[in-house]
Amino acid sequence: MRYISTRGQAPAVGFADAVLGGLAPDGGLYVPEAWPQIPVERIRGFLGEPYPDVAATVIAAFAGDEIERDALAEMCREAYATFNHAAVVPLVQLTSDAFLAELFHGPSLAFKDVAMQLLARLYDHLLGAQGRTQTILCATSGDTGGAAVEAFRGRRNVKVVALFPEGRISEVQRRFMTTTDDDNIACVSVDGTFDDCQAIVKQAFADPVLRQAVDLSGVNSINFARIAAQAVYYFTTAVALGAPERAVSFCVPSGNFGDAFAGYVAHRMGLPIKRIVAATNPNDILARAFEDGRYARGEVTPTIAPAMDIQSASNFERLYFEAVRRDPVETARAFQHFGQAGAIDVPPQALAAMRELFRGVSVSEDEIRRTMLSTLNETGELIDPHTAVGVAALRKVPDLEAPVVVLSTAHPAKFPQDVAEATGVTPALPRGSVSLAKRAERYDRLPADADSIKAYVRAFAER
Ligand SMILES: *Cc1c(COP(=O)(O)O)cnc(C)c1O
Repeated sequence: MRYISTRGQAPAVGFADAVLGGLAPDGGLYVPEAWPQIPVERIRGFLGEPYPDVAATVIAAFAGDEIERDALAEMCREAYATFNHAAVVPLVQLTSDAFLAELFHGPSLAFKDVAMQLLARLYDHLLGAQGRTQTILCATSGDTGGAAVEAFRGRRNVKVVALFPEGRISEVQRRFMTTTDDDNIACVSVDGTFDDCQAIVKQAFADPVLRQAVDLSGVNSINFARIAAQAVYYFTTAVALGAPERAVSFCVPSGNFGDAFAGYVAHRMGLPIKRIVAATNPNDILARAFEDGRYARGEVTPTIAPAMDIQSASNFERLYFEAVRRDPVETARAFQHFGQAGAIDVPPQALAAMRELFRGVSVSEDEIRRTMLSTLNETGELIDPHTAVGVAALRKVPDLEAPVVVLSTAHPAKFPQDVAEATGVTPALPRGSVSLAKRAERYDRLPADADSIKAYVRAFAER
């Protein structure tokens, strides 16, 4: 399987290079040359199969012959053995036709673990085979950093620098990053917003000297392996609810659009999906794009669902590329323009193509709080603010055909204060995470300045 850039100016590469490279050198995102298909009998066969086996099948379709099947199966088994639930991604019923898919049973209690646990093993495997060491630089709005630290700590061929916005993530989120003592991990609190952190990462990647000196790599959701790993739970949950005989809809709390785009990928691989709702908090760039065709950056508003406080949804470029019938010239034009002007208009035909599957809904903070309370009262389920965005969206989309799965992206104990304020119930951390509050923290603080951070990364990588 070859991977091409959405902007058409970079050579096609294999799976290993697409994973280890992250962003394509022309600034585009890698997508497979053609969407691999999973035959309907095979999809039917996923029913009752262990989660790691389904994952190995789905990911093998993207890795092709670059990873031996046995090695991949072993990586999937190891990755999902770190989860605290035998089903890995269990379904919980909310109403007669709505379900939660709990994606938060991994070590950092957020859905990012699902992809990151596998990604860390893929990196170690692929780098080891090439005799290479890389430095991963990642910007986190709260959960990616914790998931990356949990997944990569102690790995031999990889160092990780995680940047997070000072004061804009919860204490539990921060502690998942900062309380590890493995010396291949560095955490930096940046005086700025998540978008500042992401801009600094982009500048670091655009610096060829640094890029080469430390063999820089990225695990933000632009990394195609994360998308592939996230496509897996669309298959397992849909099949549990009657697919492929019946189509299922999904409500997805969205920020960078990696999670919702993974649903599109599953759909293109042959899974019948009726609708995917991209649900946002008041940082609603995606919701607006799907509703009126204008993809325009706004100011970032901090909310109680901080992992979604994003006003530039990187993976939207992949969907745009598909919606303009894989025209790389048009995609490059549109996203270069977006980079400068901060806004693009989705052409009407492309918008219509997106709306065959997607809808966008934005949810206010007040609605998030009320949804946490009403969900507890009506179903007994305590949900976190991100999941509440998805549940609120479910109620706001008029023609959503059943059954619907809401992706539950974080454990409520990751946001204890906001959950307690909204519901009167303080969520307990699951066993194993409770020692977090007692462990010592270790991180550095730097200004939102690309040069200082680049110097820091270089010094850490060369240590
Ligand atoms: C990252 C994250 C999201 C958003 O996912 P995207 O793939 O960026 O759209 C939603 N909820 C939680 C808890 C997250 O950590």
